[in-house]
Amino acid sequence: MSRYRIAIGGMQHETNTFSPLPTEFEHFITASAWPGLIRDNDIFSVMPGRNIPISGFIDAAHDWELVPLIWTFAEPAGYVTDEAFNQVSQLLIQSLENAHELDGVYLDLHGAMVTQSHADGEAELLRLVREVVGQDLPVVVSLDLHGNLSPLFFELASAVTIYRTYPHLDMADTGKRAKVLLSKLLENKAPFYKAWRQLEYIIPITSQSTMLEPAKSLYSHLDALTVDGVTSIDMALGFAPADIAHTGASVFAYGRDEQAVENAANTMLNALKQAESDFNNPLVAAPDAVKKAIAISRTATKPVVIADPQDNPGAGDMGDTTGLLHALLDEGARGAALSLLWDEEAAAMAHSAGEGAKILFSLGCKFPEYGDPPVKIQATVESVSNGVFEFTGPMYAGSKADFGPCACLLLDHDIAEVRVIVGTIRSQNADQSMFRALGVEPKDQKILVVKSAIHFLNDYASIAADVIFAEATGANPCNLNTLKYTRLREGVKIGPHGKAFKNKI
Ligand SMILES: [Zn+2]
Repeated sequence: MSRYRIAIGGMQHETNTFSPLPTEFEHFITASAWPGLIRDNDIFSVMPGRNIPISGFIDAAHDWELVPLIWTFAEPAGYVTDEAFNQVSQLLIQSLENAHELDGVYLDLHGAMVTQSHADGEAELLRLVREVVGQDLPVVVSLDLHGNLSPLFFELASAVTIYRTYPHLDMADTGKRAKVLLSKLLENKAPFYKAWRQLEYIIPITSQSTMLEPAKSLYSHLDALTVDGVTSIDMALGFAPADIAHTGASVFAYGRDEQAVENAANTMLNALKQAESDFNNPLVAAPDAVKKAIAISRTATKPVVIADPQDNPGAGDMGDTTGLLHALLDEGARGAALSLLWDEEAAAMAHSAGEGAKILFSLGCKFPEYGDPPVKIQATVESVSNGVFEFTGPMYAGSKADFGPCACLLLDHDIAEVRVIVGTIRSQNADQSMFRALGVEPKDQKILVVKSAIHFLNDYASIAADVIFAEATGANPCNLNTLKYTRLREGVKIGPHGKAFKNKI
């Protein structure tokens, strides 16, 4: 086998265009659940061994000469500013210009990046890459399952492979699949036939889990379709809180037999169409979710987990709304713990007061238009942490948290017994260590509230008596009728069996 010379890099961002938080360059530098900006050979020292696509690619491509560009990730949030996109893309493009005589390029991208000027940020990045390497060099891309891709993106990429699990347990495996696709392109010295299809309805993220139906069965079709001239087929289920023309699910198929590739793409699209009635979205109003959890926990031996998907920082939310916190207090929940409430000020106050201090806090809700009022309450600082700890669950395998000052507060309330973990860096709770690092053992609680939509399932399902998806305020409405779309493509349905979008202009 030839020792191919391959440039590798990445830029991951999932943009919620309804989020009030712009994504600046500093957010691409800052580490959180994943590393921040990494350049050159640091990619080889930082990335191996993690559940991240580029980590899997590096591992699989040990027989190739890899030329590191840059890799960066920013926590999902609002539009990527033009300045941030230009700075990051210039770093990547400059290092690509310095990497001469390449046989191919691998990029670890997300697929749902929206910049102030580009509705498909990944397509713009690929356009810049093509300006350097030309139209014929193989450029293979791995994507998150939540991509909203455009025809231009499909055109510019030689081949694409996408996570097949949500929670995303197969990120490194997706990088490995990208290596296989790239090696097939290099060995055959010819491009694939390729096909792309777009689904006619948008799927809310709360009904996309591959641990549940219908996504579980839909994803099982992919391997069965990879036969007879079809090299690979993948699908992105889309990311609903993005007001752009190409929001929604799409299918990518590649291979050596044109008709087989077209047929496979049609078969997968038809399966998605037929599943339209099966994507249910079982959200329960926050007070009812807490009442239900209290009732179950009376006899359960394990905690009841309540998810707060509409304020999930992993979907670009603030992670600071207080709908569920108010409900826990109003309903008198006991043995309850919530993580992670993004509140830099509360974390700083807790650190300066110290463990054991009892002080008055105004918790959460720094964006009043998106949430309920802050919770103004006395609380005891039970523990503080610098927010640096090892993740223990499978999704962040190999990664270390770096959330800045955090604290566990026991709220002073007549009836309720509620602990809140406040943090300085926004992050969804998809790992039990986010409680444990602050001295709260998850399995010993009656009720756990996690700001996450689906990812928490990977680490919490085994300790949960039951899981309830609550409907509280946030910038990621999962009932899509409440999203004020203005730029979708004509006719796309807003949710399964939803209303068709009509352009008012
Ligand atoms: Zn995702």
